[in-house]
Amino acid sequence: MSAPNIETIVNLAKRRGFVFPSSEIYGGLGSAWDYGPLGVELSNNVKRSWWRAMVYERDDIEGIDSSIILNRMVWKYSGHEDTFSDPLVDCRECKTRLRADKLEYEQSGAIKVEDAIKQKLLRCPNCGSTDLTEPRPFNLMFRTHVGATAEDDESALVYLRPETAQGIFINFLNVLTTSRRKLPFGIAQIGKSFRNEVTPGNFIFRTREFEQMEMEYFVRPGEDEPIHQEWIENCHNWFLSLGISPDNLRLYEQPKEELAHYAKRTVDIQYRFFPEREDAEKQWDELMGIANRTDFDLKAHSKKPENEEGKRLNPDSTDDLSYFDEATKERFYPYVIEPAAGVNRTVLAVLMDAYSEKSNDKGEKRVILKLHPELAPIKAAILPLAKNKPEIVGMAKAIKRSLQPVLRAVYDDTGGIGKLYARQDEIGTPFCVTVDHQSLEDEAVTVRDRDTWEQERVKVSDLQEHLRKRLQVSGVGCQ
Ligand code: ATP
Repeated sequence: MSAPNIETIVNLAKRRGFVFPSSEIYGGLGSAWDYGPLGVELSNNVKRSWWRAMVYERDDIEGIDSSIILNRMVWKYSGHEDTFSDPLVDCRECKTRLRADKLEYEQSGAIKVEDAIKQKLLRCPNCGSTDLTEPRPFNLMFRTHVGATAEDDESALVYLRPETAQGIFINFLNVLTTSRRKLPFGIAQIGKSFRNEVTPGNFIFRTREFEQMEMEYFVRPGEDEPIHQEWIENCHNWFLSLGISPDNLRLYEQPKEELAHYAKRTVDIQYRFFPEREDAEKQWDELMGIANRTDFDLKAHSKKPENEEGKRLNPDSTDDLSYFDEATKERFYPYVIEPAAGVNRTVLAVLMDAYSEKSNDKGEKRVILKLHPELAPIKAAILPLAKNKPEIVGMAKAIKRSLQPVLRAVYDDTGGIGKLYARQDEIGTPFCVTVDHQSLEDEAVTVRDRDTWEQERVKVSDLQEHLRKRLQVSGVGCQ
């Protein structure tokens, strides 16, 4: 079966309660989405899996949870106030606002966007006009004010963070001293970030409020390159461990001219989010970026750091974020390797990758969401074969209650068994457990596999162990 497009997933997500358009009863809010009962479980499972791989299964990474609103100076010295912007152009014809760097034009050699606009090579994708304004920088940070101050009081201006990374850099010394770490070590964080995107869209791929999973790994300068390479491989393997097909993942080396000002090298992990596009190159987009940020950030936040260009002198910080190596008696600014992934884009990728269709013996099309068991919102559905039989219903409910402390189980009796199975297949539940008349006699139930539709008879006393083994997840990841 060919891969589903995002539209198919939007429909499934809404129909089954993974993701709803936000504020729908008031006409929605451009590109804002809410996770429903299944979506919140899936997204929590993605985050739990990442946290386990980053923090619990390693010896060298600590976690933190920093504030969303930080002192404005953080964004001044990180460079975001000056440079965190997209080039914006307006179409004079239809008034659409566009990101100049995303517009397409026939490229004859390396021609700058400004020149392409002047030469009428750029077209508005909405109306086709070439009458576009000059590009101007549009800062993507959301602004707000703290305290009971007037709207225009600049001294109370703050931003909603556009990335979680800076909260990690400004806590570098706190974590270093309290955890008694030595290089190399990392700090991980999961949390919301906000960007006033010019052109959000493609469902949860690009939104203005989203969640990131970021880790800053601090290393001795000179040791950064091989460690960067290791993280690229680790992260690629993590996506594969979620069950994503290797054919739908690829590494993309950012060319020098695309690199952010702080980066020495960045490799993106891309997913085939747009399989329907004819141009094979345009089928891919970023799921995660793994950057070598050098010592840029720690230096930028340090009180008057040494800097040959004399540009980044910081008179506002009270501390120096350098590192002292006890063994060699050297003081220096560590380099930073940063794997940064989006929770929402990972949720979208696993949904697209898990989507499959299969015909039943009556030739009817069934959707099966082949989610990795660790990510599946529900691990087992307990279904009574006859809902008018109190003994069967009672037994099914008791089984559900006995399973729920160790794995996420639900009870459902709102349809015939065929319909109940189809419903669970469509939301990715790996196992259905059916209680029938025979169960009352032999204390056994039928366990049905989502992917093969094979059924197996299992003693109720063995059920928990049986499911745990087949789910192949540790107790920690089972819920
Ligand atoms: P893009 O080029 O797609 O705008 P980016 O390179 O600006 O992304 P980063 O700053 O590297 O993104 O952020 C790390 C990760 O955060 C991205 O790989 C992506 O998964 C996620 N992310 C960034 N912006 C958004 C957004 N507007 N909506 C959803 N996820 C996002």
